[in-house]
Amino acid sequence: AELYNIDGWGAPYFSVNESGNLSVRPYGAATLAHQEIDLLKIVKKVSDPKLLGGLGLQLPLIVRLPDVLKNRLQSLQSAFDLAVQSQGYGAHYQGVYPVKCNQDRFVVEDIVRFGSPFRFGLEAGSKPELLLAMSCLCKGNPQSLLICNGFKDAEYISLALLARNLALNTVIVLEQEEELDLVIDLSKKLSVRPVIGIRAKLRTKHSGHFGSTSGEKGKFGLTTTQILRVVRKLEQVDMLDCLQLLHFHIGSQIPSTALLSDGVGEAAQIYCELVRLGAHMQVIDIGGGLGIDYDGSKSSESDISVGYSLEDYASTVVEAVRLACDRRSVKHPVICSESGRAIVSHHSVLIFEAVSASTYESPAVSPFGLQYIVEGLPDEARADYENLSDAAMRGEYETCLLYADQLKQRCVDQFKDGSLGMEQLAAVDGLCDLVSKEIGAVDPVRTYHVNLSIFTSIPDFWGIGQIFPIVPIHRLDQRPSGRGILSDLTCDSDGKIDKFIGGESSLPLHELEGDGRYYLGMFLGGAYEEAIGGLHNLFGGPSVVRVSQSDGPQSFAVTRAVPGPSCEDVLRVMQHEPELMFQTLKHRAEECVDGNSIAATASLAACARSFRNMPYLVVGASSCSMTAIN
Ligand code: PLP
Repeated sequence: AELYNIDGWGAPYFSVNESGNLSVRPYGAATLAHQEIDLLKIVKKVSDPKLLGGLGLQLPLIVRLPDVLKNRLQSLQSAFDLAVQSQGYGAHYQGVYPVKCNQDRFVVEDIVRFGSPFRFGLEAGSKPELLLAMSCLCKGNPQSLLICNGFKDAEYISLALLARNLALNTVIVLEQEEELDLVIDLSKKLSVRPVIGIRAKLRTKHSGHFGSTSGEKGKFGLTTTQILRVVRKLEQVDMLDCLQLLHFHIGSQIPSTALLSDGVGEAAQIYCELVRLGAHMQVIDIGGGLGIDYDGSKSSESDISVGYSLEDYASTVVEAVRLACDRRSVKHPVICSESGRAIVSHHSVLIFEAVSASTYESPAVSPFGLQYIVEGLPDEARADYENLSDAAMRGEYETCLLYADQLKQRCVDQFKDGSLGMEQLAAVDGLCDLVSKEIGAVDPVRTYHVNLSIFTSIPDFWGIGQIFPIVPIHRLDQRPSGRGILSDLTCDSDGKIDKFIGGESSLPLHELEGDGRYYLGMFLGGAYEEAIGGLHNLFGGPSVVRVSQSDGPQSFAVTRAVPGPSCEDVLRVMQHEPELMFQTLKHRAEECVDGNSIAATASLAACARSFRNMPYLVVGASSCSMTAIN
């Protein structure tokens, strides 16, 4: 556990159990020992073709943990409730979940259900997100907020107005000044009194990677001048009472409470000014930004860590709003946050398999003997060889390496010229490898090939270099024998992970054992990764299982299991028609070989199976009979 700093980034949800496996503590600190869920047992269960109705899911696999999701929501709410209570704050906290972080139906439905007792709502940033938020919230608490952010056209605004007609507590947040005319016109046309919010562009700027949308030059929000124009226009059309919410977003992964306090304090002043100007303000929506400690370093200096707890975050926000409002004698507003990353990151674990590892090839010994090589070498190369031998005799190892490099480069040049044969080049390679090995200059870091697409499953690593904790989910009672980087299945040199938490360029890893399987988990990736992931090389998403704590013998129950997209699914996304493709191949087989032969029939059956299987490597027998459920 120490080697991977599991207690640092994983507490209170992940720890190592007595079997040396990674286990989940679904209720965080309140989890009892018998309630812990062993991740390896989940993998074994869901990939066993004899269990789960013969489904035998193929890896990679996302394990969703709704109990963890519930615990995150409750912890966030409790942190704010505590801050409100202890500071004598005059209103409550009522959060929303920004669905862009993970739009999975079951994640959103769970959040609405778990959050219903404390009016937890949803935030949408596009029309499809609004549609899903509207339908999910119909089953939620009517007081829950439905915050409509993002670029809006007439269709988006009409939908949001319809949502108000459906008695959903909908707020249309103006991100652009131009949206106001549409809201005024459409609300008149549809006879709906809208509730309007304004997104303010703050001067406070978060300097890390995730802060590029903040500050005066940020992509979103209204400047002070624009806010004043909106207020005037609303006054002219007798709709200033509709303006009730102020929103801002400093950026994701806010590193410190100092920056948070600065931003919230600035926004609270704008809020007070809006009250002074006559708006019927009710809510201050502080956006997202509550950070996750991906590396467990608790540092406010890094993009992937944060130097505060949930409690620190909540108390900073409540204090900043309270102080500003008290100074201006303004009634305390309801505090809303749009925390996404902090709610969903922990609840999902991506599990994948290392299928092979590069091995150090024993230096090739030339079948023709060293003498033959040396004799066949041109004069300059032979001189390098002799210098190399002399340095070795004198025990000057650095010099040996220098001559070995020189010899190799010279021989490569001569091979390119056509003046050196392949046998000699191979023998020189072998000689140089031998020198490196003897001197201990062989790179000890091995490449582990993983049955995964980084572009599909960890896109933020590729896109913005974001680092996630990656750990073997078993054998944690054995010291890893070496170190490795992870290389994925795509034909792309970017498809590798060579940066890990703690600033490491390799990961401690175990030896792959015979036909034993070696499973790794990528943690804290429940936010953003699934929706951003692409189809590079046509690798689709992982299989997904939903696992709840249960008091049965295994301490968990698989309540849902869905295989990842098959080859035909991903082909369809690119407009191919798998049925027609298969017919084309079948006709060709009939033309080329005896279509009725046993071999032809078997080949076509295998081809049909490939269309139905996931694009990932078939490891073991688990994935032979993929049949989709539901
Ligand atoms: N709200 C808005 C407007 C955002 O742009 C974002 C993300 O960038 C969020 C909420 C969610 O932020 P986080 O995941 O940091 O909580």
